[in-house]
Amino acid sequence: MDDIKTENLSATSFDLFADLEETKHEQIVLCQDQATGLKAIIAIHNTVLGPGLGGTRMWQYAHEKDAIRDAMRLSRGMTYKASIAGLNLGGAKAVIIGDPKTMKSEALMRKFGRYVDNLNGKYITAEDVGTTTKDMEYVQMETDHVVGLPESMGGGGDPSPVTAYGTYMGIKASAKKAWGNESLSGKSIAVVGIGKVGMHLLDYLHKENAKLYVADINDAALQIAANKYRAIIVSAEDIIGLDVDILAPCALGGIINDDTLPKLKCQIIAGAANNQLEDEIIHGDALKSSGIIYAPDFVINAGGLINVYSEYNGYVRENAMAQTENIYNTILEIYKKSERDNVNSQQAAILHAQKRIQDIMLVQSTY
Ligand code: NAD
Repeated sequence: MDDIKTENLSATSFDLFADLEETKHEQIVLCQDQATGLKAIIAIHNTVLGPGLGGTRMWQYAHEKDAIRDAMRLSRGMTYKASIAGLNLGGAKAVIIGDPKTMKSEALMRKFGRYVDNLNGKYITAEDVGTTTKDMEYVQMETDHVVGLPESMGGGGDPSPVTAYGTYMGIKASAKKAWGNESLSGKSIAVVGIGKVGMHLLDYLHKENAKLYVADINDAALQIAANKYRAIIVSAEDIIGLDVDILAPCALGGIINDDTLPKLKCQIIAGAANNQLEDEIIHGDALKSSGIIYAPDFVINAGGLINVYSEYNGYVRENAMAQTENIYNTILEIYKKSERDNVNSQQAAILHAQKRIQDIMLVQSTY
């Protein structure tokens, strides 16, 4: 990382080595095994701070280049997430091409585990979209370089409660920035997506007497939120434009885009979903100029990564939670940097993450 700037890949053209140069990726590993049907990409973005950690996504991509792009984009995000969370971890991610419902098998996952093992610890894998803890048990039969295992196997189990706690901390820091007081009592908060993270988040917000609104495509989850947390159910279309204090996206990425931006009435956007800004620069800048405080996604949702990283030092959930609490301070620091450097908060967070990597490179320049 020889300069501090943020990179953008062209949405239309694809030139692998030019893209690798642009994003400063260290290594891309293509894995192919005819017997098991494995086609995978392991993208290692940056290992200055430590081994590259990132989950394995299994997805049916329309084109192979989309899979490579996804692995590159996600691995770069992991570099920044680990750096800003103060972890001694680099960024990497793996993608297995195929339908997880029909193509997954013990043999395929174990073969993938062998490819991970061949990297000798430079890459550490974990579960992600399309893979499960069970799959990681198969991976672990072939390599030690896997985290996110069940508690029964000495792992940290489901990271979602820790992610939710970090998100809650980030929301409180954002409230402090907006209103000079971190209390959420009486604040109206709309949570979009009440899955594993969103539901745990509701619990924290309810305990602080926030006024809750929820949207999801899962009716059963909505009923639980209404009964247990007195949340008001809103449609997924309407929740974006609700006149609330805080919007907490906890479902899919790309929720802040050209269509949704003009509808926003909230003062803060702070939630766990990955890649909330469809375009980090255009939509991040638009939020900044409209005065909406935006908690950068990879900072506020780092609790899950902190949780799996804790497995390396003998897992203790309290330690993972204590480290996750620091997201409060980091978010406030990013808001200060955003103002000082006059860049949007997402860009401020990326620059902050890059700076730590540059600094640590200097530390490692002598034996
Ligand atoms: P999840 O799949 O358990 O929950 C997602 C929820 O969003 C589901 O209830 C789903 O029904 C709902 N949803 C899907 N499409 C929707 C739509 N169009 N409108 C409204 N709701 C919709 O996932 P999760 O683990 O809770 O993760 C939520 C987000 O947080 C994801 O973006 C994930 O990448 C990110 N994240 C999760 C963790 C973690 O520890 N689980 C860590 C970091 C980031």
